[in-house]
Amino acid sequence: MTSGKVWLIGAGPGAADLITVRGMRLLQAADCVLYDALVQPEMLAYCPQATLIDVGKRCDQASMQQKFINKMLVDAAHKYQRVVRLKGGDPMLFGRAQEELHALDEAGIAYEVVPGITAALAASADAGISLTSRGLARNVLFATARVGHGEDPSDWVRPVVAADTAVLYMGVKQAAEVAAALLAGGLRADTPLLIIENASLPQSREWAMTLAELPLAASWQLAGPAILLIGEVYRARLALAEAAPMQARA
Ligand code: SAH
Repeated sequence: MTSGKVWLIGAGPGAADLITVRGMRLLQAADCVLYDALVQPEMLAYCPQATLIDVGKRCDQASMQQKFINKMLVDAAHKYQRVVRLKGGDPMLFGRAQEELHALDEAGIAYEVVPGITAALAASADAGISLTSRGLARNVLFATARVGHGEDPSDWVRPVVAADTAVLYMGVKQAAEVAAALLAGGLRADTPLLIIENASLPQSREWAMTLAELPLAASWQLAGPAILLIGEVYRARLALAEAAPMQARA
């Protein structure tokens, strides 16, 4: 059976114009597009010609099994010539791209990966604070505290404590556990951090706080995805937030 080709494309953080030009052109030429929950509807306007398949996966909602998504991808490549797998942010960061590429390899299906702007970069742009800073932050860590069912425990605390700037994906709902683990791991209680929700979108929101205050965020009902940025580069923003009235806190 001759099969089509699959492009794994990073949709970027949300704003429809933050996909790459290459990604957009491939969407415009796609026969079939399988997209994630984090992909904004505006982006699908680039591919009205394509058959759209929602394989929405949110970690907190009843999620579609990854194996099932892999199978749908392979099936789509058997049926269509140009298949796009559109994934939030960059496909190669916390996106389970490896499982999908492996399934394509096993089925002998050709693919290409097109990078996207990951949430950490969009959040930094929204905040207007550089992840690196001369003399203050010379390394950046992208990490997650989340461990999937049946996976070995992960030692995410040590590298976060050691990093000059750390970005934690999928960490806000578990803010209390994250804060406790980082304090136990030796990170100072007054370490500044930012929470950014809906980076790159008009409804983007930001909160600055210390590590000691982070558990408060666990009870927030955030509507969009949120990311944690931790490190000394955020101290000046924290000082500003502390000087301002508490209006913006959820
Ligand atoms: N591959 C994606 C990450 C997927 S994991 C990327 O490169 O960005 C999903 C997590 O990404 C969310 O729980 C959240 O922590 C973060 N995230 C994705 N989009 C975001 C956005 N627009 N604003 C803030 N955080 C976001």
